[in-house]
This record gives sequence, structure tokens and C-alpha cells, in this order.
Amino acid sequence: MRYAVLSDVHANLEALEAVLEDARRQGVEGLVCLGDFVGYGPDPNACVERLRDLLVAALVGNHDLAALGRLDARRFNLFARAAVEWTREQLSPSVRAYLEGLQPRQTFEGMLLVHASPQDPVEEYILDWETADDNFRSAEFSVCLFGHTHVPVRFAHDGVRTYVFPLAPSGAVKLERDLRHLINVGSVGQPRDGDPRAAYGILDTGTRSLELRRVPYPVEAVQAKMQARGLPRPLWERLSEGR
Ligand code: ZN
Repeated sequence: MRYAVLSDVHANLEALEAVLEDARRQGVEGLVCLGDFVGYGPDPNACVERLRDLLVAALVGNHDLAALGRLDARRFNLFARAAVEWTREQLSPSVRAYLEGLQPRQTFEGMLLVHASPQDPVEEYILDWETADDNFRSAEFSVCLFGHTHVPVRFAHDGVRTYVFPLAPSGAVKLERDLRHLINVGSVGQPRDGDPRAAYGILDTGTRSLELRRVPYPVEAVQAKMQARGLPRPLWERLSEGR
């Protein structure tokens, strides 16, 4: 099966539509979302409504939990908190109920899916080698897909050492069976690796491989909506720089 793996959509409907169209053209058969449907962006309800019936696996993220009032938004910086508070007022009862039914971790096709990390599925950021190494040693999994950092990356562990590899849109990467894998497919709605294009992954369980995809979308249209909704300037400015 070929699955599109999406994470950190963050209420960016234009980026989501571009990713869904690309995934359709790539012939994916199912969709997975690793959480943070909402927060930051201008279209929280529309993004959840668009995705919910398409997903074969879905996680809740820290921004979703904060928008539901189940995680203290004071843990966020000022701008993220302003966006979460705005989002909380927007959520429809049906979208709220859907998000409330999700967990931050689940197993799927023999893999572990987490929003943040295997040892802390809600909040830990796996940004470096040491944190990845800690997670390989503290949790049991063969392949784990995670989101939360908005930075595509691949870590592998051979039982002794942890290795870090960049994850770029340059073809499918084989997930060798003699290694363990921790993979971040980047963010659909707010990339932070210097590339403003939406990111997602295509996981092929038949060939045991994963391909990162980057998809351009009309960033200015989202920025105009965010401005019109009164969302903080730094949150819409960062979209054109992918940071
Ligand atoms: Zn996020």
C-alpha cells in the first residue's frame, strides 16, 4: 500500500489542497496525519473537515490539545498562544469532538506513529542526534514516524549507534530491515527548514520505502487570510521563508 503521511497542517488549507492534489497524482491509496491539524493558520475547521474522512490513521498534536483546552497554552510563545486562543474560539462542535477522540500515538501497519517523540508523544522535539538516540534506547519500535519539529529528517539505529541523514525530495529511501528508523516527513502548513513549499511523505509498505515530497502552494493567499483574521504578523511572515 502507498500512504501519504501528513503532519503539522496547522490550518493551512491552501497547502493542504496542494498536498492532496499531489498525493492523488502520485496514486496514494490512504492518508495518515501525525497531528497539529490546527494552530497558527486561518482555516482550522475547513482543514479538519477536508481531512477527517480521508484518514486511515490520525493523531492529535500539542496545538490541537491546546486549542481544545487540554494543554496549557502558556507553554507556547506569545504568537503561538495568540493563534491557539483565536483557534479555540473558531472550532465547531463537530471538529472539536473529532479532535477530542484522537490520541498522540498509535501503531499502524506495524509502525509506531507519534506526534512528537516515542518517549513523549506530545511535547518532546527530536531535533538532534542525542534526542533521537535517547528515543531509540528508551522505546521499542522498528519504524517510527513523527512530526512536531516541522523539519524533515531521518535517523537510523543499528543496535549500537544512531545515524542522522537529511531527508530531501530526491527519490524514495529504503527502510532497511536490519536498522531501526525514526523519520520526520516535515510540515504541510508551516515548514521550518528554509524551504517554504509544503512537505509530506509517501510511505510504500510493499517496497518498505519512503519518499519526501515538496509541493508549492499560494503562500500569499494564506498570508492575506491570516492578516484579515488578525493573526500575528510574525506567523504569516514566516511562511514565505519556510522558517
Ligand atoms: Zn506543529
